Amino acid sequence: MTTRSKSRQSSVPDPDHKHNEQAAGIEHSESSDNGSIGVDKEIEDKKQIRNLKRKLSFIENEKDVIKKSCDSLQEDKNSLNNYLNFIKKDRNAIKKDRDFIREDRNTIISSRNAVKVELASLQHKYRTLAYKLREHVECPVCFDVPTSGPVYACPNGHFVCPKCKDQLCPTCRGKMSNGKSLLAVTVIENIDHECSNDVCEEMLPLAELKLHLQCCPHRSVLCPAPAELCGRKIPLSKVYNHILKECAGSYNRVGNNNAKNNGRFPKHFRYPSPASMGLNAYLKGYVFSWNKEHFYLSFEKFLGYAVLSLQLFGSAEECKEYEVSIAVHRIDDEEMKGKHVQKFTGEPLPVETDQKARRHNGLLVGAMQLEKIEVDRKIGVTLDIKKIPL
Ligand SMILES: [Zn+2]
Ligand SMILES: [Zn+2]
Ligand SMILES: [Zn+2]
Ligand SMILES: [Zn+2]
Repeated sequence: MTTRSKSRQSSVPDPDHKHNEQAAGIEHSESSDNGSIGVDKEIEDKKQIRNLKRKLSFIENEKDVIKKSCDSLQEDKNSLNNYLNFIKKDRNAIKKDRDFIREDRNTIISSRNAVKVELASLQHKYRTLAYKLREHVECPVCFDVPTSGPVYACPNGHFVCPKCKDQLCPTCRGKMSNGKSLLAVTVIENIDHECSNDVCEEMLPLAELKLHLQCCPHRSVLCPAPAELCGRKIPLSKVYNHILKECAGSYNRVGNNNAKNNGRFPKHFRYPSPASMGLNAYLKGYVFSWNKEHFYLSFEKFLGYAVLSLQLFGSAEECKEYEVSIAVHRIDDEEMKGKHVQKFTGEPLPVETDQKARRHNGLLVGAMQLEKIEVDRKIGVTLDIKKIPL
């Protein structure tokens, strides 16, 4: 606007023409330039205004979007706060439950401790009572506690077992009659009894004692070596060491033969040929420790045949858990691929197997068969043991 008013002023004549002309010329040309610049500027301004409007509109849109986002975030925040409050309530409820449980647990611990104390006291009372009762029914002569009736009583109430009963009471020397004590029988039927085997310290009720005596690890058994060489009766728990160290029917004791007792199977042996022996020959046997069990391999020769058998130091029931293979063969045929191999596969024999029964169990080989196997007056024997999963 200022440029236009300047242009209108320049049309008035000026005395200093030249100067004015120059000035007018200059002003004219400036006025013309100023006009176009003004238009340009106006266009430019409009453009800028349009741009600014567009930007403004864009910003407005952005603002709306941001506002919506803000609203949505606020909603999220509110819902999170609600959730947080819910969790807080839940946590408080859990804390209360936990406190209740703690109280309950403390009550249970206290009750359990009280029960333990009571139980210990009852056990003590029971043991004291059982000890006193046992003392009273123990026979004063043989010191056995009878395991069955009748139990005889003297007029003064002293007991004596049936096998020690005599004319006079062993305690007070009073005359014994045939009076029996029902009370003593009730006592012996209800107290724990000591296992009668030496070494064993088990104390069991009467019903369990009978079963225990059949499988007590300390029950007395005949050494499994041929009775002609040993024949000793010893606690089962000591048989293994007996054969290792002192049994006359043991090969383990000879030279370094116990080296074969290394827990590895199959085992190969070389025995002197039975053909070169007398009519009846009772060879020493080998004892083995394997799988926490002990086994004895015996080799006996009789008129016309020889027998190899393996005994487990356990019951018939325990024998069912094992499979035994015994074979005789030439000493140069440990692979057992040649002729005349004789094999037996079956269960081991229980330690209490009678010697006569043992001599008809296991691998029985005819004398003529043995002669065919013999090399340098020796025969080979292979033994294998396997545990069978039940
Ligand atoms: Zn007695
Ligand atoms: Zn008496
Ligand atoms: Zn026992
Ligand atoms: Zn022995």
